[in-house]
Amino acid sequence: MSTPSPSAATLRDETVAGTRGPPAAVEAAIERSRAVGAGRAGLNIFAWTDDDDARSHAAAALEQMSDTDPGLLLGVPVALKDNIATLALPTSCGSRILAGYVSPYEATVVRKLREAGAIPFGKTNMDEFAMGSSTEYSAYGPTRNPLAHDRVPGGSSGGSAAAVAAGIVPIALGSETGGSVRQPAAFCGIVGVKPTYGRVSRFGLVAFASSLDQIGVFGATVDDAARGLRVIAGYDWLDSTSAELDVPEYHEAGAGAVKGMVIGRPTEYFPESLDPRISARCDAALERLRALGAEIRDVSLPHTEMAIPVYYIVAPAEASSNLARFDGVRYGLRIEGDGLRGMYEATRSQGFGAEVTRRILLGTYVLSAGYYDAYYRKAQQVRTLIAADFSRVFASGVDVLFTPTAPTTAFPIGAISDPYEMYLSDIFTVTANLAGVPAMSQPIGRVDGLPVGGQFIAAHFDEMKMFTAAYALERALGAEARA
Ligand code: GLN
Repeated sequence: MSTPSPSAATLRDETVAGTRGPPAAVEAAIERSRAVGAGRAGLNIFAWTDDDDARSHAAAALEQMSDTDPGLLLGVPVALKDNIATLALPTSCGSRILAGYVSPYEATVVRKLREAGAIPFGKTNMDEFAMGSSTEYSAYGPTRNPLAHDRVPGGSSGGSAAAVAAGIVPIALGSETGGSVRQPAAFCGIVGVKPTYGRVSRFGLVAFASSLDQIGVFGATVDDAARGLRVIAGYDWLDSTSAELDVPEYHEAGAGAVKGMVIGRPTEYFPESLDPRISARCDAALERLRALGAEIRDVSLPHTEMAIPVYYIVAPAEASSNLARFDGVRYGLRIEGDGLRGMYEATRSQGFGAEVTRRILLGTYVLSAGYYDAYYRKAQQVRTLIAADFSRVFASGVDVLFTPTAPTTAFPIGAISDPYEMYLSDIFTVTANLAGVPAMSQPIGRVDGLPVGGQFIAAHFDEMKMFTAAYALERALGAEARA
């Protein structure tokens, strides 16, 4: 019988001590995948896997074992979302238009993982081009939630969340444009971190909406996620939006205390309409933090209600521009048609799924000459107000904010057919992407047996405070976080 993966720290320490080697860690992950039914007909967690590729990465990690400075993730298998470029496995963004496409270069985060001794392990299923909140919009079919097989794992990074929740790997990478790491982390009962905009290089991340996109980290625990972020964060000359700032030791934040911290509870994230069982879980978590000596302060972020409309103008606008490159000429699929224009039309209409097509149409519309000022410019102005809400609250002495991650728990596969209803899944997460601030979700208990996520949000580059609060809450909740 296979058991869930040990933590990243355990895997690394046992590798350094020589009691477990990277090859054994890979074989355990392969065995666990098989035992939980991770394949297409089962949980459908992976878009692409290659056991021999994983084994060759393990062999490379083995060579680093004797180094004087063994990497922070030595011998730790890490799953990667299918929009993060790798050299051996395809990078297809869950789309038909890129099915089987293999990148000629690898993402900076993948290089950093390898240099830290980690073992890239499979490409995970996702909503096509990261557009979605359930991983049902993948060209390869939906991923199932490992905790409740008839339900979605959340999205768009649902495959990565499921790989961690199923105990295959302790860490996986996803991407965040509007909540695609935090919301699936909440649905799968694990930890998910969206770093500050600019904290992690996006070189090799297929672009969705460039002013919002960040690579994020899933961990089975706060510590797994902190170690993952420590390794992938930092300046990269290949990404001009990456920040030239030192990277703190996030995994040492567990030594900090929340005593004296001011934790804001934003009223707008606890509306009357919120499921009372979810708000009760959040308030119970806040009570724990208060007992540890934190001050809980009611605060207001008045422009929160504009976040979904603003996001669904800005994100599709940028997506319509970024996705123009998939034209049948330069990448992936080509379907011949009548002349060049016919080829473009056939390739794009057959290559993209319905949601991606909807976003391209929406984005092209809001950017068109007659509507630019009314929609796109207005949305950018309101986005500035949303960001200013956060700056004002943090400047007033609040260290971190605490909110629910999502308005619901994991919903049944096929339950949401109205796109607008799906968009509302991100109501508590898109704000952090619009403002560029860091945020993370962690399990804070269950409702009807399904995980509920609590979210910490911090000021720009204040991930350390966020992790300090998260470690403390995880310790205080203990087994309750999963009960
Ligand atoms: N669910 C949101 C969307 O569909 C966010 C996606 C994401 O963060 N990649 O756009």
